[in-house]
Amino acid sequence: MYGTVSTLHRFTMYTMEIKFTPWRMHYIKSSDETKRLDGCVLCAIPAASPEDDAENLLLYRGKTCYVVLNLYPYNTAHLMVVPYAHRANLAGLVSETAQELFTLTQRAVAIIEAEYQAQGFNLGMNLGRSAGAGIEEHLHMHVVPRWIGDSNFMPIVGGTKLIPEELSQTYARLHRGWRLTIDDSAM
Ligand SMILES: [Zn+2]
Repeated sequence: MYGTVSTLHRFTMYTMEIKFTPWRMHYIKSSDETKRLDGCVLCAIPAASPEDDAENLLLYRGKTCYVVLNLYPYNTAHLMVVPYAHRANLAGLVSETAQELFTLTQRAVAIIEAEYQAQGFNLGMNLGRSAGAGIEEHLHMHVVPRWIGDSNFMPIVGGTKLIPEELSQTYARLHRGWRLTIDDSAM
């Protein structure tokens, strides 16, 4: 489930060549729902009932974008900020969406820093198939926390040894973080 040593090694050595794991269809229970949305899982996740948010790893629903854990993380707490709008064209994002995309990315970084003592981040979008986009028709921002030495071993940070954790546990930790820090009135 977590990035293999070779994956993380590649990630570290060739940062410009990151190819994020494509999303798969496991998120959504109802294949009918996904089919109705032309098979786009990034459209199907927020279209599902909010009651299923935990199961779908959806952390936060903003006005124009949502935040969801990556099902196949490169590192613990790898998440994605995704516009609701089904769009491939970054330049075509309306400014409200672009603003919230970045605001939520900032908050994700802050929350992961606080909860996991992350020491760095890789942030990025793969636009287009040639750039390695897993779902090229629906753009999304990857937020991948990094720790010194994380390509070689699970480091000890703040007196706590970081170990791979279940996605449900990551979800619980980050969901609590969002609830503590998000002030919706400020959006
Ligand atoms: Zn979509």
